[in-house]
Amino acid sequence: MDWTGERNATSNRPLLSHGYRHHSAAGIAFRIRTGRDPVGQVRADCGMQHCVAPDHVEDAPGRRRNREQLRYISGGRALQERCRNDHDQAEHGRVAADGRAYCNACKRARDARSQARRDAA
Ligand SMILES: [Zn+2]
Ligand SMILES: [Zn+2]
Repeated sequence: MDWTGERNATSNRPLLSHGYRHHSAAGIAFRIRTGRDPVGQVRADCGMQHCVAPDHVEDAPGRRRNREQLRYISGGRALQERCRNDHDQAEHGRVAADGRAYCNACKRARDARSQARRDAA
């Protein structure tokens, strides 16, 4: 479902204006489906950026739960508590869309290193 209304000027995320307050359209779609307020950022898990279909949006714990389920179904093991660089996986642990677990802190460090290599080249 595409959003044709107002968007946040910096993030391009769909917005609904209510008085002077802005609400994220994805957050409202989430509330329509679940009847509760989302925890953390609401995003669609269907692959379409800024999708606002109520059935597609998940909050942060919901996304994590979905992906962990996918991981169990696809035969993966439970997430580690700490990665091999000792980052707390409750905070930095992520599961990719294909069900593979990775540490976001390590990924960021890797990305920064390859960026530095590119800059030096
Ligand atoms: Zn969608
Ligand atoms: Zn790590």
